[in-house]
Amino acid sequence: MRTTGVLVAAMAVAAIGLRAGAQTPAALPPDIQVVLLGTQAGPTYDVQRLGISTLVIAGPERLLFDAGRGTTTGMARAGINSAGVTRIFLTHLHSDHVVSLPELLISPWAFDGRSVPLRVWGPAGTRAMMQHFQEALTFDIHVRRDLDEKFAADGVRVESSDITEGVVYESNGVTVRAFLVDHGPVQPAFGYRVDYRGRSVALSGDTKPSESLIKATAGVDVLIHEIGRLKADPAFAGPPDEVLPNSHQTRRQLITIAAHHTDPVEVGVVLNRVKPKLAVFSHYNADPARALPLVRRNYDGAVEFGEDAMTIDIGATIAVRRREPAK
Ligand SMILES: [Zn+2]
Ligand SMILES: [Zn+2]
Repeated sequence: MRTTGVLVAAMAVAAIGLRAGAQTPAALPPDIQVVLLGTQAGPTYDVQRLGISTLVIAGPERLLFDAGRGTTTGMARAGINSAGVTRIFLTHLHSDHVVSLPELLISPWAFDGRSVPLRVWGPAGTRAMMQHFQEALTFDIHVRRDLDEKFAADGVRVESSDITEGVVYESNGVTVRAFLVDHGPVQPAFGYRVDYRGRSVALSGDTKPSESLIKATAGVDVLIHEIGRLKADPAFAGPPDEVLPNSHQTRRQLITIAAHHTDPVEVGVVLNRVKPKLAVFSHYNADPARALPLVRRNYDGAVEFGEDAMTIDIGATIAVRRREPAK
């Protein structure tokens, strides 16, 4: 399930460029770099994979999309100084997308020396949630800011906005647009598109197949899309109230959640209409070897199953790099 021929060629070019130093056009830095800090879906925990969180680097901008479990650990793995990541965009307020925010309030300030406010954009409820996180941490903030280390007061301030569809951020030639997606009863839920120097990347957030997403992301260079559980999963046939093996949940509960996501067959239909240069799956729990043939029923373009710390360079070519295995 690696890459198509097109992408393999792109990777080879990038690799040659790296070895050749700055002499060749291929060695130009990418216009946009995407780092998958964590790729796992849902309120899970795992020693191998972190929760959903994606960093987009465009020029001087460092834009974080969602803050799932272990976001600061993901930054450390990728060699990113967390103090420089002060713009956070939330797709929706499900816990698996926001649970690292309290840590992002404190650690980049107290450990990495953030001295400017944290800015957070998200759906209705974002401002209130950030206020509550700050209130919950009042004791720690007080001690570190006023009594003990006396860290910069601005670095632990939060400026948050409840957003609607449209352009939500513009700076240094980078534009971030929010578009509505369909995450069932979790409303509103957004996807985002980032444009910079003619390059683009979009993130689906959590959504079932969404016309709004297809319209907002058509022709994007890289589409990062979620994958949920197969709706035609044979395990779903049977009494709705029966608890499934290896789960504490009933069939009805699992079917309900699956209905709010895009399954591997459906994502192929979506990709066939968006036609990104590269599709990257993130926020998935499926086994890629089993999911890829289901995607391929409807889509034969370039796809990657995202891995934690995977980097996607978007420039004249698109190159994908995986994290070096731990030595
Ligand atoms: Zn989620
Ligand atoms: Zn969700």
